[in-house]
Amino acid sequence: MKGDTKKGLKVFLGNFSLCRGNFANFIDIQPHLNRWKIMTEPFKSGYASIVGRPNVGKSTLLNRLVAQKVAVTSNRPQTTRNKITGVLHLPGAQIILVDTPGIHQSDRTLNEMMVRASLSTFSDVDLLLVMFSAESGFCPDDEFVLNSMRGVKTKKILVINKIDLVDKSALLSLIDEMNQKSLFEEIIPISALKEDGLDQLKSLILNYLPEGPEYFPKEMVTDCPETFLFGEIIREKILKLTRFEVPHAVAVVVEDIYEQDNGVVQIDATIYAEKDSQKKILIGEKGSMLKNIGRQARQEIEKRLGVKLFLKLFVKVKANWRDQKQSIKEFGYTHDSF
Ligand code: GDP
Ligand code: MG
Repeated sequence: MKGDTKKGLKVFLGNFSLCRGNFANFIDIQPHLNRWKIMTEPFKSGYASIVGRPNVGKSTLLNRLVAQKVAVTSNRPQTTRNKITGVLHLPGAQIILVDTPGIHQSDRTLNEMMVRASLSTFSDVDLLLVMFSAESGFCPDDEFVLNSMRGVKTKKILVINKIDLVDKSALLSLIDEMNQKSLFEEIIPISALKEDGLDQLKSLILNYLPEGPEYFPKEMVTDCPETFLFGEIIREKILKLTRFEVPHAVAVVVEDIYEQDNGVVQIDATIYAEKDSQKKILIGEKGSMLKNIGRQARQEIEKRLGVKLFLKLFVKVKANWRDQKQSIKEFGYTHDSF
């Protein structure tokens, strides 16, 4: 199909070049050519999954590419627990990006499920964006990621992120080392955080997407339900405000969203911890921690919704929920859903 299109365009250009001979001095034909190109080239669309070990910047890249925060990010590993879709609308194309949990080794049921969610995208998508961090170079955890994609036929682009943190010679030798693996169609260095190299990355992705329909309407940036996004915003504040094992032991479930008579939107959400000691930390002295989490989350959700919000948070304990399949499912962490 791609070949046909190119041929069609060539024929058109051939005809036009005749005109050009006659009118070149009178009209600038380039804008017309560009417009015609958009009209004649087929719409391209497809799925690209962002995969890699935890903390390399996958979610940051998703947010920057779709120019909106759809995935929460933090400097802690295993922040992302679900597959998160972000839709990038371009002239004549639509890239559907899938952010995934970091691929890592763990015996915990929750972590196994998270990794399974990542692996499940390997053969389902048109393209894999395999992300490494330039800062750490190629490390055993990256090797683990590469091993997990052995035999996977989906085309792969290696995205080397965080180039703002290294000097050029270190980057060049990493690119060289990765080139020798002959695993990737392309290798591209970027800084997701500084938005460096993102236009080039978009162009590269487009080269590997097939002709396809507009899967999502223009105004849609993600297909994650609002209950999930609001829960993630609350969890992000917990990740930022608490330490040690607390961030990892927490799940947030949005129970209800409704409008009060005075127009204020009320969100009821429950924060689950695994131990009483964690619950104590989450509530804080005289409720100060919970107030802080609530205030920060409320401000962000209010900005998003553009309405006044009343956020009601509860804290409960569900012992060892990360090792119980039933609780993991109840909290929305399954390998194929939000
Ligand atoms: P993920 O676990 O792979 O999704 O990683 P995140 O997107 O949550 O990012 C992990 C940490 O790396 C966060 O603190 C980000 O701000 C940081 N980060 C992401 N991309 C870059 C980058 O290009 N440069 C730098 N310096 N930091 C980055
Ligand atoms: Mg992430």
